[in-house]
Amino acid sequence: MANILISGAGIAGPSVAFWLAGSGHRVVVVERSADLRLGGQAVDLRGAGRTVIERMGLLPAIRTLALRQRGMSWVDGRGRVRARMGVDAFDGEGFISELEILRGDIASVLFDATRDAVEYVFDDTITELAQDADGVDVAFARTQRQRFDLVIGADGLGSVVRNLAFGDGKRSLGCLISWFTAPDPGDLDGWYEMYLAGSGRNASIRPGRVAGEAKASLGLRMPRGMAVPTSRQEQKELLARQFDGVGWRVPQLMSAMENATDFASAELGQIHLPSWSQGRVALIGDAAASPSPLTGLGTSVALVQAYVLAGELLTANGDHRRAFARYDQVCRPYVTSAQELPPGGAAGFAPRSELAIRLQTLGMRYATRWPMRPMLEKQFSKAADLALPDYPAVPES
Ligand SMILES: Cc1cc2nc3c(=O)[nH]c(=O)nc-3n(C[C@H](O)[C@H](O)[C@H](O)COP(=O)(O)OP(=O)(O)OC[C@H]3O[C@@H](n4cnc5c(N)ncnc54)[C@H](O)[C@@H]3O)c2cc1C
Repeated sequence: MANILISGAGIAGPSVAFWLAGSGHRVVVVERSADLRLGGQAVDLRGAGRTVIERMGLLPAIRTLALRQRGMSWVDGRGRVRARMGVDAFDGEGFISELEILRGDIASVLFDATRDAVEYVFDDTITELAQDADGVDVAFARTQRQRFDLVIGADGLGSVVRNLAFGDGKRSLGCLISWFTAPDPGDLDGWYEMYLAGSGRNASIRPGRVAGEAKASLGLRMPRGMAVPTSRQEQKELLARQFDGVGWRVPQLMSAMENATDFASAELGQIHLPSWSQGRVALIGDAAASPSPLTGLGTSVALVQAYVLAGELLTANGDHRRAFARYDQVCRPYVTSAQELPPGGAAGFAPRSELAIRLQTLGMRYATRWPMRPMLEKQFSKAADLALPDYPAVPES
């Protein structure tokens, strides 16, 4: 049995750990944060990603925690609804999919399902990777150097494993997005409200799962010539400056952001790499191939890659080279399609001009009619674009 290190305890890390530890490998997960990171708005479970959750035996637990939502509304500065898409649009696979769950909830479910079989080390990070023909020597910031047979980077968009073993691979979409908990305003009535505030600003609030809580987001297309700041404090300050004076619910959202203990943020970006493995080191999830939150497919891609990588390792009888090559071959077309941005891309997420906002809102109002329908249908059907292999060597959960 192999000795495997996974970097990152988000969605992809615990998922691959689930399959590998379940078949008897020694699995260590190192997570940079002191605790599990439970922040975030909601993530969609679509197509093949949902099938993986089902094969893990976790669908009942996930369904219990699923958000009760009616759909998505695009509102104007006075809160008037300008366009709406119900949760049943596009057969339950529209902007709000039939199965959505708070990111923190799915992270907890995956952690709980693996905590007994996997060794979790929090508050630490890999600082050095040195591989030879037989293994990988790994140095950590806080704990002692160890040797592993394989290392899997599941440490998100800014992956340290990718930076150490692969190079950057990041394509920025020039946007900053933030997520945090806000008090429930009490009048959402199950709708996810989005306000396109102009000048490249996007504000939203959606129902949470816990009474009294809602989940908010402020997003920004970076002003020309400005880079996304790296520290959370600087990001909060930038958002506060850019949203100053904006109407709708934004003043309440800004004060919630200021006090939020779960503020999480990301530069919207994608990862494009010609290969997801280098010797004994492989990448999965956002670290390997982030499609960006604009696609709604990041979690499904992470679950699928985790399942396929583990499945190929378990069927390759210790031949990691063969397993890594097959993993790439099986997942690559699915991931390439998932990385195509929805119509409008970053400009559609946070339009700059009044005219662009009007066009975007019109597009959403008539989303289920020609010519929008076929374009969006293509986008939403990608989740199902992969017939998942069966891996006889993978134990049933
Ligand atoms: C706090 C948070 C909130 C999010 N909220 C949303 C959301 O609302 N909507 C959405 O669409 N997407 C959100 N995302 C992104 C989404 O979770 C991913 O796109 C997707 O689920 C793929 O998951 P992943 O496990 O590959 O990456 P992630 O979920 O980003 O997990 C990566 C994990 O690696 C850890 N990590 C990072 N660097 C290191 C390091 N050097 N050493 C060890 N561990 C490290 C991180 O702390 C994190 O736990 C969020 C991510 C995070 C971390």
